[in-house]
Amino acid sequence: MITVDEALERILANVNVLEAEEKPLLEALGQVLAEDVSSGFDIPPLDNTAMDGYAVRAEDTRGASADSPVELRVAGEVAAGYVFAGEVTARTAIRIMTGAPVPAGADAVVPFEETDEPFDKPPERSHKVDATVRVFKEARPGANIRRAGEDIREGQTVMRKGRVLRPSEIGVLASLGRATAKVIRRPVVAILSTGDELVEAGQPRPAAKIYDANACSVGALVRRYGGAPRLLGIAKDTVEALTAKIHEGMHADMLITSAGVSRGDYDVVKDVLAREGDVEFWTVAMKPGKPLAFGCFQKGGRRVPHIGLPGNPVSSMVTFELFGRPAIMKMMGKTDWQRPMVRAVAEERIVNRDDARRFYARCIVRLREGRYYASLTGPQGSGMLTSMVHANALTVIPPEVDEVQPGQEIDVIMLDWSHGEEWGSNLLAGEEGDRR
Ligand code: AMP
Ligand code: MG
Repeated sequence: MITVDEALERILANVNVLEAEEKPLLEALGQVLAEDVSSGFDIPPLDNTAMDGYAVRAEDTRGASADSPVELRVAGEVAAGYVFAGEVTARTAIRIMTGAPVPAGADAVVPFEETDEPFDKPPERSHKVDATVRVFKEARPGANIRRAGEDIREGQTVMRKGRVLRPSEIGVLASLGRATAKVIRRPVVAILSTGDELVEAGQPRPAAKIYDANACSVGALVRRYGGAPRLLGIAKDTVEALTAKIHEGMHADMLITSAGVSRGDYDVVKDVLAREGDVEFWTVAMKPGKPLAFGCFQKGGRRVPHIGLPGNPVSSMVTFELFGRPAIMKMMGKTDWQRPMVRAVAEERIVNRDDARRFYARCIVRLREGRYYASLTGPQGSGMLTSMVHANALTVIPPEVDEVQPGQEIDVIMLDWSHGEEWGSNLLAGEEGDRR
């Protein structure tokens, strides 16, 4: 028997970071930047106004108040996207819109709110030009002006390789004028279900057969963590069928199979895997998900790592979370693949019947008055996929702990931070859901 940590270490040692590719920005969401990015210009490019109002010389507003306003002649106006050709001279002002470059000669912007221009109804364009504006408040030099380069300076390194592109990074790249970014490509993950009992969704189901759940649950996890799933379908438990499907999987960056890896299995899966690649069969000290296969297949100078998940639907999802997810993230160039773990107060007794295995029970974690509380999702059979549907976390009960009492603190791995539909609550907002 090997520990979860040993199994993960061995898997990650056999998985490599993939090559970079140039991607349109929106498609690169969640991918890792493979280049340092610097700016070719200042952002903002010019000094500009943060408010709608009047560009003025601050000294001209000295002493202005509601009782004794200063009157300035409005010499023109400028909208965002245009440069005002003239200059602000003594006792004049230029009507200016948010984002417009500050005209030469001006060193402050007086917002409409501090003038006699009504700002609560849309002013008619140019209605003040060539008229006068009354300023009710003194402006200090620099007021309401955003300086050129105050966000990003020309030549500055804005982001370094290794950064994960979130919406904000993608926005910054766009503001630099970039249409594409160089990122580590997403792994293509081939997914194969095995077992004579399986039928594909959409097909008629004979009495003794079950629909294939694993291909879809694992495929969805692959997609969630950034990979590109390629479903190979179902292989019957025959040497020919399995061998053919495994060969198809060799075009991918990783192959995930499910079922047929348990010790007592009457299955040809293990034989075929062992023959086609350098595959080991492990007994991992975890519940659910004790049997696990891992190996590498060689094809045309390429090594394709393979993870053989157990067949029970809960086991295959949990083992994928613990081993498949980090592997995908490493291939994508990510270095931070630890799931957030928090301490939670057990709300009920949790029995770990197995004294050799770590217990990943499915649970619901809620935040109440600053503390996390965990309750199980009900029966924990590894064939009961609905226990995953109700869960937003997994407990981490060490093998040596036989029983956790209500009120005791345990570690939980968060899978989702909210449990919206089921409980009508958002955990982070601290709202109490509907308890059952
Ligand atoms: P095995 O690992 O082959 O011993 O399978 C363990 C259990 O998981 C059996 O009850 C299988 O019928 C079930 N199982 C295997 N593959 C799938 C699948 N793709 N979808 C749903 N159940 C499965
Ligand atoms: Mg089987």
